[in-house]
Amino acid sequence: MSMKPEPQIYCVGGAIRDELMGLPSNDLDYVVVGATPDEMLRQGYTAVGQDFPVFLHPQTHAEYALARTERKTSKGYTGFAVHFDVDVTLEEDLARRDLTINAMARGVLSDGSLSADLVDPYHGQDDLEHKVLRHVSPAFVEDPVRILRLARFAARWPDFTVAPETMGLMQDMVKNGETDALVAERTWQEISRGLMEDTPSRMFVVLRECGLLKQWLPEVDALFGVPQRADYHPEIDTGLHVMMVIDKAAQMKLSLEARYGALCHDLGKGNTPAEVLPRHTGHESRGLPLIDSLSKRIKATKDCCEFAKKLSQDHTTFYYLPELKAGTVLDVFKRTDALRRPERFIELLRATQADIWGRGGDFSNALTPWFDQWQRLLKTVQKLDISEIVSRFTSEPHKIPEALHQKRCETIAPLLQTWQNA
Ligand code: ATP
Ligand code: MG
Repeated sequence: MSMKPEPQIYCVGGAIRDELMGLPSNDLDYVVVGATPDEMLRQGYTAVGQDFPVFLHPQTHAEYALARTERKTSKGYTGFAVHFDVDVTLEEDLARRDLTINAMARGVLSDGSLSADLVDPYHGQDDLEHKVLRHVSPAFVEDPVRILRLARFAARWPDFTVAPETMGLMQDMVKNGETDALVAERTWQEISRGLMEDTPSRMFVVLRECGLLKQWLPEVDALFGVPQRADYHPEIDTGLHVMMVIDKAAQMKLSLEARYGALCHDLGKGNTPAEVLPRHTGHESRGLPLIDSLSKRIKATKDCCEFAKKLSQDHTTFYYLPELKAGTVLDVFKRTDALRRPERFIELLRATQADIWGRGGDFSNALTPWFDQWQRLLKTVQKLDISEIVSRFTSEPHKIPEALHQKRCETIAPLLQTWQNA
């Protein structure tokens, strides 16, 4: 009877990468080599994997996966043949991973601590030192989500570069139709995570270079090369402007909705008629159907899509406040649903601030989102006592909206006047 060696447990992937970078890691992933599913269950682990065997530790509930290999068998996301067995080695398991920096491991010692010996067959530590995002093996092409993951890591660590051969591989994947099969849910999952990183522009720059932006987010891709008026936009290029705005939104720690809004706020500039350029009259509303089609394609959440449309519609109105009539201000409140959702209204103003700061030159004086003034107007409308109007029209309730509008206009007009005269 042959003796089977004791199963060996390794900590792998992101946790080892983060530890070597001196960063805290939120999740730990373990690989078990040389164990059968039955053995895991006998030791008290709970099975959770559907497509391949993953187990939860009886006490810590951390994830333990049996070492496995994967082979692409057909197009699409489900066309994988997964092979797990007691004879699959750690090196084989690491070979199916996306990036060299994510393909390192350390053994778990009997006391639970990690071994000082780094298992690093693909030279991830070298790439980490040189700040390079590099694929592990040609099998990278088998899963297009890896392109999105790589782009997301670029947004997290903007000083990392993409290895030229990896960029070449990704460009081939797009050309060869490997990315047609991307599942929209996964696209949004990665893009939304990338938007929440510190430098989201890096994700879109990488996606643009490999061609995925043009394939999956053509409305954003179209902005590159479109000129804007130099007096308002010293950076000229619309795509560049949008990249600056999303990075500002990240610096300002804005919500996902606001960051997606920043990405989409100028989509209407992508189809400005050539004879109008470099002006973009009407881009605010021209962007709306584009935001709808982009959001639908990449399955952005309803909240993100809605925020983006409201920002597109009104971002320029916000910075023209002193020129507005009272009725127009009320229209803005209505369109943005500001009375019911004041926090989102404030986030729209913040995103407008990012739009102003995200330009070449210094625009903090030339334009302003009139932050305090908009909020004061909103508060004034919110606090208005409407009981008198309601009781005056008890017998003719259909007249209430008009009377209410009148009263609100009368209340905010003097405020607007002071700013116009200032
Ligand atoms: P994060 O810090 O965002 O969690 P991570 O690298 O830990 O990054 P996870 O999604 O937690 O990412 O995945 C853990 C590990 O699994 C990765 O480090 C990588 O080795 C591997 N991995 C995850 N997704 C893929 C994929 N699509 N293709 C290849 N390997 C993958
Ligand atoms: Mg992780």
